[in-house]
Amino acid sequence: MSTNARSAVSKPRVERPKAQSACLLIGCVRAFPSREVRRTARPLCEHMFVRDEATILHADLDAFYASVEQRDDPRLRARPVIVGGGVVLAASYEAKAYGIRTAMGGRQARHLCPQAIVVEPRMSAYSAASKAVFEVFDDTTPLVEGLSIDEAFLDVGGLGRVSGTPFDIAVRLRRKVLERVGLPITVGVARTKFLAKVASGVAKPDGLLVVPPDRELAFLHPLPVERLWGVGAVTAEKLRDRGITTVGEVAELSQAALVSMLGRASGRHLHALAHNRDPRPVLVGRRRGSVGAQRALGLRRRSSEEIDASLVTLVDRVTRRMRAAGRVGRTVTLRLRFDDFSRATRSHTLARATAQTETILATARELLSTATPMIERQGLTLVGVAVANLDRHGAVQLTLPFDRHDASALDAALDEVRERFGTAAVTRAVLLGRDPGLTVPLLPD
Ligand SMILES: [Mg+2]
Repeated sequence: MSTNARSAVSKPRVERPKAQSACLLIGCVRAFPSREVRRTARPLCEHMFVRDEATILHADLDAFYASVEQRDDPRLRARPVIVGGGVVLAASYEAKAYGIRTAMGGRQARHLCPQAIVVEPRMSAYSAASKAVFEVFDDTTPLVEGLSIDEAFLDVGGLGRVSGTPFDIAVRLRRKVLERVGLPITVGVARTKFLAKVASGVAKPDGLLVVPPDRELAFLHPLPVERLWGVGAVTAEKLRDRGITTVGEVAELSQAALVSMLGRASGRHLHALAHNRDPRPVLVGRRRGSVGAQRALGLRRRSSEEIDASLVTLVDRVTRRMRAAGRVGRTVTLRLRFDDFSRATRSHTLARATAQTETILATARELLSTATPMIERQGLTLVGVAVANLDRHGAVQLTLPFDRHDASALDAALDEVRERFGTAAVTRAVLLGRDPGLTVPLLPD
């Protein structure tokens, strides 16, 4: 499909996004209006737990899946590329210029940009690229906290004498990722994690943006409220209804006012972020909070058998990864997304932590059956399974040793067969003859 789609396209008109390939460095006073400059002249004394230098990097690959496709097929370069036919999994910046966004329906995307080239996702290529990029991160600093398959926080504080300033380090990191992996990566540098992430968001694509400590609020306050972490469409609309469109306008409100507007958790969270209060350090080697996988189902209505088959595939994959990483977990979460892009989650916490496929599948099926009326009403476009409340295997008490039916022996045997002969070597009866479909890796374990 992809080959035909590619050759059928002739000379697409592409509006190249500005700042492509440009190294963007903001941090000089002239980048901001003078009113903003005066505002930061007030003493900042809220950052007791935070470094006084901008040493946190947020590194984020640009349009990750689409960039891998453009890297591997020169015909796709500088063209609008969509990864995933049913639902858009990723769009190149050339496609984004037409308004195409991740999670958009394929039909709508093709309507916006009929000349876009649609390619099938190649998850193994993305996993390999992610691994190579994380190797560059690990070579840069021992303090790396992965956020997802294509982004991480790096703390480069204390590397000054060896590696230069955080700016020098960020320049080198971007060059190395391009040389070794062939992908563009954007880096934001700031004193807090939150601000580093905002900076990389503003600098995209293929950019570098440093926010010096004395320029933080001047940088942050003119930005639209959507740039704040945790502000989605609903919160943004609530704020916009009250005439609040910028982060600076949020910062002018008291915490009490924000809490009454948005609720306690959201109000406090936004109040802190609008003042750039984020004391969280970069956590190295933090064990993942959950292991999960999800699968886009496309917009066609799926039968309950098809949905169940997807669930089986996902649980199989998640539990295999848990066993490979020596983890067990107690909380099983089912994530659902519907035709109208609304989402729902259902979760259940087991009495004991486990990595057994059978137990987790039974729990996930139970959760799915409680959501059936909703699925029938709203049409399912994505299903995901995650296991959280993780612990190391062996840290928990084993279940009774004389369980008559020991499923872990079966799991171990299947894992070994798949390890030696490939994932397709053994399959479940319910999956025979079905398209193995697409599962999306979330983070290397
Ligand atoms: Mg990214």
